[in-house]
Amino acid sequence: TVPVQQTYSIASIPADGIGPEVIDAGIQVLNTLSETLGSFRFDFKHYDWSSDTYKKTGKYIPDGGLDQLKKHDAIFFGAVGAPEDVPDHISLWGLRLAICQTFQQYANVRPTKVFRGTQSPLRKCEPKDLDWVIIRENSEGEYAGQGGRSHRGQPWETATEVAIFSRHGVERIMRFAFETAQRRPRKLLTLVTKSNAQRNGMVLWDEVAEEISQEFPEVTMDKMLVDAMTCRMVLKPESIDTIVATNLHADILSDLAAALAGSIGIAPTSNLDPTRQNPSMFEPIHGSAFDITGKGVANPVATFWTAAEMLAWLGEEEASQKLLECVENVCERGIVTADLGGSAKTVEVTNAVCDEIKKLA
Ligand code: ATP
Ligand code: MG
Repeated sequence: TVPVQQTYSIASIPADGIGPEVIDAGIQVLNTLSETLGSFRFDFKHYDWSSDTYKKTGKYIPDGGLDQLKKHDAIFFGAVGAPEDVPDHISLWGLRLAICQTFQQYANVRPTKVFRGTQSPLRKCEPKDLDWVIIRENSEGEYAGQGGRSHRGQPWETATEVAIFSRHGVERIMRFAFETAQRRPRKLLTLVTKSNAQRNGMVLWDEVAEEISQEFPEVTMDKMLVDAMTCRMVLKPESIDTIVATNLHADILSDLAAALAGSIGIAPTSNLDPTRQNPSMFEPIHGSAFDITGKGVANPVATFWTAAEMLAWLGEEEASQKLLECVENVCERGIVTADLGGSAKTVEVTNAVCDEIKKLA
């Protein structure tokens, strides 16, 4: 019998800066994996939506673009932002947030760990001490785009940025966070808020967390204020497993997490629609990094880990784990880019990972 080969239709949006460099590397690694394992293949469709398109047409996404995107199984995204030419809030809302909002990707998953062979800036931190997943609410909160400005230019000008929290929105992210914590060996969830100072939305978070925790008796939940959480991440990384926090708080905590793990160049992120009615989007956590664009030194590891997260979401758990294992083996052998203290170029890391994958055959 001929084994059935699953084909996944993937939209790739490399966009700006080092985005195209790391997405190319990611596609090479994914194709090598599918050729080696043989049980699935990818059909990539490339979308050249970027800040360049915006400068030419005034739009990041052409008319009908989101309908096209909806047909894919997943979206593999590079980085958006061209701060010299386009204000960051326009590029971010024009492309990334437009996709997240349209496809109800309300759960943003950000795993972090110290890889074998890489060094955390913390004095005592082995790979076993730092292995976290941050669950970021990705659809409301401080980034809901609610607010406005009045009396522009006057000395009495005011601006409001309203954080929106709906019971529906908080319940669905909380349930997703408990499910994530439950699947992990330690079954430990830390709820991060600022409910001593922000007495409406953050108190709703506390209340909903208590309610949902009743559905998950196996999961241990503890609570931290976000300021205290930053200290705990630095001083007691081994006490943490899964974290759930708002859009803003988790955005900040996940940059800290990435730095503690050694570099922003290794951290992946998934923007998920857990209902699976829409495609989910997978991207490295880092930005377009124009300071290193075109030099061939971008760390592709974040994109490889991103690819592994995408595989897991598509149901290819085993391939996902194998890919991550190959990446970690390469790091352990010291084949790493400058941000991790090495001297390898993007292409050298990519080829080393592909060679490691081929050994799986
Ligand atoms: P954004 O606003 O999109 O988050 P940013 O301005 O915060 O972008 P990044 O583009 O993420 O910043 O870059 C922050 C720093 O990290 C830069 O010095 C950049 O060179 C470095 N950096 C980011 N990604 C990588 C990578 N993949 N490999 C090596 N260095 C990276
Ligand atoms: Mg940033």
